[in-house]
Amino acid sequence: MLMKSFNNYLTHALLIAVLVSIAAPGIAQKSETNPDVSLGIFPKGKLGPADHFTGKAWNYDMVPSDTTLSTVIGNVYFEPKARSNWHSHPAGQILVITDGIGYHQIKGEPRRDLKKGDVVTCPPNVVHWHGASPKTGMQQLYILPNTEKGIVKWLQPVTEEEYNNQN
Ligand code: MN
Repeated sequence: MLMKSFNNYLTHALLIAVLVSIAAPGIAQKSETNPDVSLGIFPKGKLGPADHFTGKAWNYDMVPSDTTLSTVIGNVYFEPKARSNWHSHPAGQILVITDGIGYHQIKGEPRRDLKKGDVVTCPPNVVHWHGASPKTGMQQLYILPNTEKGIVKWLQPVTEEEYNNQN
């Protein structure tokens, strides 16, 4: 009786060891290619140009600029530490954070933390930047209204000091 339960124990232990060895490489691979943010809804898109971004920011265009709706919609996934340059939007911008952790800062104001579910409105012609936190990426939906007034005016990169300064 005792021997039988010991054999059962060995069988279970072996089964668990086999299952863990099958599952572990998959988990490791997933966290390597997709560190902190699920990209399940939209395609990753194209890498944003180094002229406008520090680090890797992936852009997926959803609604292009046209004269009927005059609205641009797209998705950006910022990898950890990635951020936009300082910039402004002639008609303002709305951000909807769909995953991860990041920052938004209007020039002259404290840096604001962003997380999944946050909504940010940025008024017209206000200089600002947005991006991921150092350890966790951020995914955001952006909406640009009234594009007949313009879409974006790019400025200088956000320095390491500016990025790390909370105020
Ligand atoms: Mn912006």
